[in-house]
Amino acid sequence: MFGWLRSLFGAGPAPADERVERPAAPVAKAPAAMAPETTMATTAEASGDDGGRDDGARYVIVGAGPAGVIAAETLRAADPDGDVLIVHGEDGPPYSRMAIPYYLTGMIDEAGTTLRKAADHYDDLGIRIRHGRVERVLADDGRLALAGGGSVTFERLLVATGATPIRPQIEGLDLPGVHPCWTLEDARDIVRLAEPGSRVVLLGAGFIGCIILEALVKRGVELTVVEMGDRMVPRMLDATAGGMLKRWCEGKGIKVLTSTSITRIEPATDAAAEGGGLAVELSGGETVPAHLVVVAAGVRANMAMLDGAGIDTDQGVLVDHHLRSSHPRVYAAGDVAQGPDFSTGGFSVHAVQPTAVDHGRIAALNMAGGDAPYKGSLVMNVLDTLGLVSCSFGRWQGADGGEQAERIDQDAYKYINLRFEDDKLVGAITLGRTDWVGVVRGLIQTEVALGPWKDKLIADPHRVMEAYLARVGTA
Ligand SMILES: Cc1cc2nc3c(=O)[nH]c(=O)nc-3n(C[C@H](O)[C@H](O)[C@H](O)COP(=O)(O)OP(=O)(O)OC[C@H]3O[C@@H](n4cnc5c(N)ncnc54)[C@H](O)[C@@H]3O)c2cc1C
Repeated sequence: MFGWLRSLFGAGPAPADERVERPAAPVAKAPAAMAPETTMATTAEASGDDGGRDDGARYVIVGAGPAGVIAAETLRAADPDGDVLIVHGEDGPPYSRMAIPYYLTGMIDEAGTTLRKAADHYDDLGIRIRHGRVERVLADDGRLALAGGGSVTFERLLVATGATPIRPQIEGLDLPGVHPCWTLEDARDIVRLAEPGSRVVLLGAGFIGCIILEALVKRGVELTVVEMGDRMVPRMLDATAGGMLKRWCEGKGIKVLTSTSITRIEPATDAAAEGGGLAVELSGGETVPAHLVVVAAGVRANMAMLDGAGIDTDQGVLVDHHLRSSHPRVYAAGDVAQGPDFSTGGFSVHAVQPTAVDHGRIAALNMAGGDAPYKGSLVMNVLDTLGLVSCSFGRWQGADGGEQAERIDQDAYKYINLRFEDDKLVGAITLGRTDWVGVVRGLIQTEVALGPWKDKLIADPHRVMEAYLARVGTA
């Protein structure tokens, strides 16, 4: 269930281990770069857009997700005298997208999704939050242009704008009853429409899609999942694990259609309307009635505001091992950043919360003048789908010329696949096991030479715990 997943990630609604130590006394100083009419008395939770006003701070952060909030708190601790301003593009207090599934199931209310629970948390730390959308970054001028007018000056900027759901080119995607599941606003729409017994089509069975799947099932809907890949979670699981997960979901009453796409969505005709207000046409020719279509077709980095800023981008904002972009005063963190990748030695976007938290902390330490290198994020996805836990780690697809070992128990829904490069473990998939998560991660992350343990693992991959104790535990 979600709770288990959250504790495993060490990230979720306001976890204690994401916080940084608060300074002894709250800091609320007038920033040097701030326009005269602006005061520090601004309430963090002010609603609506403050557009039109000029503003400024030594440290400006665009985005109030986990990356932005951790960065602000870290900056406060690292530089108690430096003023910190977050520009928050959504209404309300900063919240965690990862908490949305809990909200969908009714386990928490909206207040439960906030990243920090105390109403005066940001005020106490002297962190200002300004609501508004940044339209352009003028990096050389040290200035941001806001939608609706007004600008914000900065000495150091952190771009922590996250990502936006991809909108596939499908006719009918703008009909009422079709929603992504990315913001709290989306979640409110879904709660309204996903009533017990209602028919829901979920487009996409990727990592986020599968998290939403579980929440929808817990709401008691009749669910059809449409995935264009040949298996569930194709970017995280191989054919064996993806196939087992599909069988597991089908056993729970979910209709899972892989190698299938939605070709069109139309308002249902009167005759079909009682099955739902929408008619969802599939690539195989079948039409499925639905009250709600939830679109989870992947995300793309929010970096349009950097157009023309002279900052290098690719899949995300390209950052170095200090999370600094190609511009010396601009940093990036979280889903928007294409940062160091532990497994490949290259640079990748890892759109998960633990990476956002690491990025935010490291970027802030460097923005404050420190020297905090980032080793890189290890691809590690852990998914609990209605009680079946699947995990993939590092280079789970294997290294060129590398060997592999696997054990499959289809009936018991248990699977392990290990991937080696020379005598190191570089990737793995596990399904139906939670006890090996730490040791598999440890074996990969420490890059330990397995020596004779490589052959032992090839003969029996279930011996990962013994291998860990022999090679890492005693090191
Ligand atoms: C339903 C759901 C479940 C998830 N579950 C998990 C999970 O179990 N585990 C996990 O690791 N990850 C999960 N994720 C992904 C995780 O939420 C993201 O990786 C994480 O939120 C990234 O943090 P971030 O700070 O980089 O970006 P975000 O949290 O997306 O925050 C970006 C911020 O930038 C703001 N912004 C964007 N553009 C502008 C602009 N132009 N001007 C001003 N502000 C702007 C936004 O309003 C927002 O405040 C889930 C996501 C969803 C949607």
